Amino acid sequence: MLQTILVATDGSDHARKAVRLASDLCAKYEARLVLVHVLMNHASSATLTKLASQRALGKRLWDRLNSYESEIYEAMAGADAAAGFVPIPAPREVLEGVAKVVLERAEAQAAKAGVARIDTRVAGGDPADAILDAAKTEKADMIVLGSRGLGDLKGLFLGSVSHKVAAQSEATCVTVK
Ligand code: ATP
Ligand code: MG
Repeated sequence: MLQTILVATDGSDHARKAVRLASDLCAKYEARLVLVHVLMNHASSATLTKLASQRALGKRLWDRLNSYESEIYEAMAGADAAAGFVPIPAPREVLEGVAKVVLERAEAQAAKAGVARIDTRVAGGDPADAILDAAKTEKADMIVLGSRGLGDLKGLFLGSVSHKVAAQSEATCVTVK
């Protein structure tokens, strides 16, 4: 019945639980697992730093991750621009490096749980739209997400990505608590 399960991961602890459930189901039903990560344009350098490490990311990208914000703030100050706490997206190569780290970890977790067929996908754009698109392209029978992610509004039951995917998905969608 279940042939393809898609699980979306932002590298959070919640997403790790989602990968665990999706992997167990894939192992049981001998289904293919598709792991999707959407580049995190809105994540701060502090959040990205927590997800990766110098060892996982490599020294050059790690140094870029730790310097891009201050370089831009300094350039803005030099240009006499109004430098405040404006969120600045990380360079694309850093986001791609983080994507690789997050997906490799999830892949190792799934392989350990006994999943034989694993595909990984990196996407860009709005996370919920990209997850819904990937589910269609991959003909997923089920989408699994964490109920929350890396966002820090502690009181929420459901993050905006899980909310939008659950509302718009044509396939069965499971949000893991
Ligand atoms: P919000 O982002 O709305 O502030 P949040 O971060 O707590 O809140 P969501 O972003 O909705 O919650 O995350 C819920 C789940 O959605 C995650 O556990 C993960 O499964 C998936 N998800 C979120 N962002 C991404 C992403 N960039 N790539 C892949 N999956 C994601
Ligand atoms: Mg989020």
